[in-house]
This record gives sequence, structure tokens and C-alpha cells, in this order.
Amino acid sequence: MRLAVDLGGTWLRWELIPGGQTGRVATAGVDPQAYLRELIDRYAVKAVAISFAGQVYDNRILSAPNISAGFDPAKLGIPYRIENDLKCAVLAEGRDWGSGSLTALYSGTGLGSATLERGEPIRGRRNLAGEIGHVPFRRAPFRCGCGKDNCLELYASGNGIAKWARRLGLAPSLDELAIRKRYEEALLYAAATLLTLFNPEFLILGGGVITHHPDLVELVKTELPTYAPPFALEGVRIERSRLENASLEGAKILLERL
Ligand SMILES: [Zn+2]
Repeated sequence: MRLAVDLGGTWLRWELIPGGQTGRVATAGVDPQAYLRELIDRYAVKAVAISFAGQVYDNRILSAPNISAGFDPAKLGIPYRIENDLKCAVLAEGRDWGSGSLTALYSGTGLGSATLERGEPIRGRRNLAGEIGHVPFRRAPFRCGCGKDNCLELYASGNGIAKWARRLGLAPSLDELAIRKRYEEALLYAAATLLTLFNPEFLILGGGVITHHPDLVELVKTELPTYAPPFALEGVRIERSRLENASLEGAKILLERL
């Protein structure tokens, strides 16, 4: 038996291969190390692939602001692969859309992105390339998890919505015009920047905020020409993700490579 895991800031989800048995638990409610150890014992798991909501390089965790600090997949005692969740998601999106030239832009708790070039994620020196969430945008009256006060994530993410709502005394919702305007502008800026930098065949929008507000995909399609130069938009397909959990699907692709 093999195990695919999506270890996110909110949920830890898993699926057994073959068989397709699945489960999910709140990340904050468990010690991921002990939880996975128990799954491995119970189902006689021989290999595990983990999509991880943090920075990962060369099969090792570099940092994980939202997840229990002591987690170390090397101590699980079986062959494993661990990869950043957006890198996993973009692998799954590439397979789903049948393209090796694709950028995924996900707005959920945070704002993340990754790009496939000839079927493989663009990684950079330490696998940190292509992340749009912490690109400087505009000063905010509060700080991001990374320590800066000007990240795109402070505007176009669930975290950002919550921070602006507290600051402005509004409900944490895109129904509030003052929050929506800030969100939309940052999302368009992020999409335009990614298309200009990477020139992909597809731009796929996903994550919890997009899922709950599918009209944002239409907004991006309509308004992008005022944010990005014509050459960056020529021929690009902009779509909403069709995958329920792209990161877990990406972990299953990693399992194929183990
Ligand atoms: Zn940041």
C-alpha cells in the first residue's frame, strides 16, 4: 500500500493507493508525525508522498510557518517524497488540462502560484521560484506571515481579507465593497504579473476564495487587458481549476515517481 498526503495549514488529507480510501483531519488538532506514523502502521504503507504547505527543497522542509515545527518525513522510516503544495498542484493541473505550459494561481488561506515549463515546475536555486504571494505590491497597515507589510497576499487571500476586515471594522467577506476592491486589484495584478513573466499556455485559477467566488474568473478574463500588455495575453487560456484537491492529486503524481 502507498499513501498520498496533503499536509495543509488547515487540513491534513490522505488517500491510500490502490483502493482510494481517504481521510481528513484538522491539522491543528493532531501531531502530523504521529498521525502519519499510525496510518503507515495500520495500512502497512510502503511509501508516502506529501504535498506540504511550506517551503521544501530537495526532499527537505525549509520552513513551515503554519505547521507543527517538529515534522520530519525522514523519520517516518519509509521511502518518501515531499514537495511544496503549489508545485504539487501545478503538476496535477498540467495533467488535468493536458498541458506542459501552465501557471496555477491559487487564492485560499494564502496566495500562491507555480508554473510548469515543458511539464516540470520552474524551481529556481532552492525550489522557491515563481511564488507570487510575497511579491511587493502596496504597503498595508499590518504585516504578512513573512514579516513584510507590502505583499500581494495581504490583499488577495483569505488571510488578507480577514486582516482588512479587522482593520476596517467590516465583515471578513468580499461582499464588503472596500475589501472587494482591494482584493480584485491585487488578484488582477498577480495574474498580469504571472502571465507577463512566464508566458504560459494556461492560467488556472483555484483555491478556496476562487471556489466560493467563481465570478472572479470572469473578472480576470474581462479586466486583465487593462493590467497586462497584449503580448502577455495573446492566446492564453484562463480557466477555473476543475480539481477538488489539486495538491493531493499532485502528491499522487509524486508517488508514481517514487
Ligand atoms: Zn509576505
